[in-house]
Amino acid sequence: AAMREHRIKKTKTVCTYCGVGCSFHVWTKGRKVLKVEPHPESPANGISTCVKGKFGWDFVNSEERLTKPLIREGDHFREAEWEEALQLIADRLTEIKETDGPDATAFISSSKCTNEESYLMQKFARAVIGTNNIDNCSRYCQSPATQGLFRTVGYGGDSGSIRDIATADLVIVIGSNTAESHPVLATRVKRAQKLNGQKLIVADLRRHEMAERADIFLHPRAGSDLVWLSAVTKYIIDKGWHDTRFLEERVNGFEEYVASLEPFTLEYAEEVTGIPRATLIRVAEAIRDADTTCVLWAMGVTQQQGGSNTSTAISNLLLVTGNYGRPGTGAYPLRGHNNVQGASDFGSMPNNFPGYESVTDDAVRARYEQAWGVELPKEPGMNNHNMVNAIHDGKLKALYIIGEDMGIVDSNINYVQAAFEKLDFFVVQDIFLTKTAEYADVVLPGSPSLEKEGTFTNTERRIQRLYRALEPLGDSKPDWMILRDLANVMGANWHYEHPSEIMDEAAKLAPLFAGVTYERLEGYNSLQWPVTEDGKDSPLLYTERFNFPDGKARLYPLEWIEPDGTDDEYDLHVNNGRLLEHFHEGNMTYKVEGIRAKTPQAFVEVSPELAKERGLKDGTLVRLQSRYGAVKVRAFITDRVKGHELYLPMNDAGEAAVNRLTGSKTDVETNTPAYKDVAVKMDVLETE
Ligand code: SF4
Repeated sequence: AAMREHRIKKTKTVCTYCGVGCSFHVWTKGRKVLKVEPHPESPANGISTCVKGKFGWDFVNSEERLTKPLIREGDHFREAEWEEALQLIADRLTEIKETDGPDATAFISSSKCTNEESYLMQKFARAVIGTNNIDNCSRYCQSPATQGLFRTVGYGGDSGSIRDIATADLVIVIGSNTAESHPVLATRVKRAQKLNGQKLIVADLRRHEMAERADIFLHPRAGSDLVWLSAVTKYIIDKGWHDTRFLEERVNGFEEYVASLEPFTLEYAEEVTGIPRATLIRVAEAIRDADTTCVLWAMGVTQQQGGSNTSTAISNLLLVTGNYGRPGTGAYPLRGHNNVQGASDFGSMPNNFPGYESVTDDAVRARYEQAWGVELPKEPGMNNHNMVNAIHDGKLKALYIIGEDMGIVDSNINYVQAAFEKLDFFVVQDIFLTKTAEYADVVLPGSPSLEKEGTFTNTERRIQRLYRALEPLGDSKPDWMILRDLANVMGANWHYEHPSEIMDEAAKLAPLFAGVTYERLEGYNSLQWPVTEDGKDSPLLYTERFNFPDGKARLYPLEWIEPDGTDDEYDLHVNNGRLLEHFHEGNMTYKVEGIRAKTPQAFVEVSPELAKERGLKDGTLVRLQSRYGAVKVRAFITDRVKGHELYLPMNDAGEAAVNRLTGSKTDVETNTPAYKDVAVKMDVLETE
């Protein structure tokens, strides 16, 4: 064993950070991560990686890793053995199920975990406990995009591959700071601009790097993207620039849709969005002149009360202009976490089994009942948002969260943390004692990706294998093993010895993954769903048919949902998002010394105009107060933001946590929090 400690081991893995899904070999010696070596055959990234994928691994050896199960005793935790911790969880969940029914318990699985783990978590909720109360963190980000695509084209995923984006004549990026959030994907766009003369249109509240590179930059008022998108679409139709043949052959509902566009004139759009008419016409002309247009979007679109509708408006525009089914066309909602796509794909959703088949469909349910040998609940369960409300209402007694710092990343965290305190029983499974875990009754030590086998699905629906580079630290265990062991303590008799067996079961049950096997995913091989039984995958969707029974897409009439916005008292709008160096609330990246040193202090970006108006300097300490809470943070003056717009990076989990400010309004379709619709007032505390 000592010999082995000194050997350098190279293991193929997939990045644990963003949804681009870069894969590479990681070099390790003992527990030390020496370096990351990209591989030319890697489908998403080739030989590129960003700073997080390259250097962001020290957290796996952090002193703060959980290495033992913890059981609450009064106001502290004591270490315990697995047997005791699992028995306690089994007893308490059984008790609550018997007294309050299966729906008094809920589960949240992690988009940092593997597909196999998402599958097991939903199976545990449905088959062992008997509830559909299961969700995952795509509820915080991309559910509205999925909803917009379900309505119009039928699959909730990117329509093509990342590589295809480089072949587009025109790329439109909306509400995405791609250069910092999806760096390697952004590099492809930058290269295509330079080499192929690709045109770029960017719509955002902030003049970030992508905006600087854009041929046309749109600066719409917060939450008004649907209006300019619909106005551009209407203008295209009015001018006769729409793709008549595509619409006739492949799309339903054109007449009704055209009628619904009536209010969206250029005049109205200019008034609502603040984007000059002439600029909107330039956008329409650019789409007309491009043979292939694709749209990339992210949280700036989805985290709004009208997030689903705006995502739908994007898809409508693509349909009207015939921009689906060819390389370089289509819809690219950019998934945030490495496996946010897979967590939903593999059934951690309150309304769907794996592969997006409804729990209310009797035939589908019967298939699962037969395979699992249990009767399954017929009604959809609660989503994350409803879970928090149900805890406050006393209907939900127990919560089990894997790998999600919900007490920091949900909106209106004061309300969420108050809910945690009301729970009868709370289990958190994670790699660190997160803020959320501090509220738990039992904390179970899971493993990060380098310590497990399994698969992740990136933003382009690509399923890729990761291999184990390190042994689990201390007594921690891969999350699928913990779920299996717990299910067995509760009498489930699960026999999985390797994640491949879990994938085999999922592939047998969910037609979307019919031909997915570990053999077909060996090494750098990958599969983009849907995958037919003979192993044929689908890099490009909708080449012949859309995913509806008649094969035709559906145009979807929409109304604009006006955001709450600012008022006389709360007169500043706060936008929020990522920094390149950090990942979300920073639970992992803040434990990497080199990364922490680059961005040590929380700041809020303030426009030069506002700085002048309020007498702010760089470094002035300010207090931002919303209707829900307050943060203290230092001002950083930059012309990346304009007027009364502020930008607060979201990677602080402490004093400056943005979710102390965000409210309880959500996207009306999916309950995704409207994180981007925050109004605050500002007090100046001290000038440095
Ligand atoms: Fe990881 Fe995303 Fe960076 Fe690729 S672009 S290395 S997946 S964080």
